[in-house]
Amino acid sequence: MRAKWQECFAEASDVLKSDKHQQTIVRVLDLEIGGRDFITMAGPCSVETEHQLLSTAHHVRRGGARILRGGAFKPRSSPYAFQGHGLAGLKMLAQARAETGLAIVTEVMSEDDVPLVAEYADILQIGSRSMENYTLLEAAAKSQRPILLKRGMMATVGDLLKSAQIVLENGNPNVILCERGIRTFDATLRNTFDVAAIALLKQISHLPVIADPSHACGHRDLVPALARIGVAAGADGLIVEVHPNPEKAWSDGEQSLNFAEFDQMMASLKPYIALRGTMVATQALETVG
Ligand code: PEP
Ligand code: MN
Repeated sequence: MRAKWQECFAEASDVLKSDKHQQTIVRVLDLEIGGRDFITMAGPCSVETEHQLLSTAHHVRRGGARILRGGAFKPRSSPYAFQGHGLAGLKMLAQARAETGLAIVTEVMSEDDVPLVAEYADILQIGSRSMENYTLLEAAAKSQRPILLKRGMMATVGDLLKSAQIVLENGNPNVILCERGIRTFDATLRNTFDVAAIALLKQISHLPVIADPSHACGHRDLVPALARIGVAAGADGLIVEVHPNPEKAWSDGEQSLNFAEFDQMMASLKPYIALRGTMVATQALETVG
């Protein structure tokens, strides 16, 4: 790695690649995130009803997703918007896992909730709005659950890596980084998808990197294209919002794919994922050689 990056990210040195540590593989149930397989996480923005969650879980499982997403504790920009079902939502997620075998990723917003969420979730999501909440990061790290760390909407790559460093320093090596778009001067879309950050993170960090094309643009029509770009940039997986009836969704309906759109996206990703497989295999050979 270039000396420039070592200097630039000196405060997050443990997350940088080293001779000894080229790639972290995060193991969740029987899955390996950061390895050869490309992992798709899919599901609704919020857990709404049993029918909504279970029908989505079964559908995305059939379509090739391996992890179910869904918020039970929701960080919302408006204090009047739906804040999530809390424990009842976690119980629905556990039911979906029991029925489908999908692993569960769900957000935890407060350190007080970490023990409860960790009891139900296979991966704890730290949301964009919480990325720099160090008390939460420490508590989440200590739960020993893998952490999906979303980039703050106003955070630099360095800020993201420093937050990941906090988790590692608290004894938890299982961190997955997530690029979900940042705020820029251009407000045409919900956020600006920083695809260069994905390429950079894959070059400098041993942690798995996933792309969130849903929050990155805010429009379902653009999600499949952004997903393909994320794969081409080197992402190890995707997290994408899917809803049985996006027009009626309680949160983020505009950016949620319906079932048919999810299937089309997955089909369109196939050649990109195949190409990624070849690239990963070549890189592994180069590292060995
Ligand atoms: C979400 O995943 O639904 C979410 C709230 O994401 P972010 O923290 O990236 O805004
Ligand atoms: Mn959302």
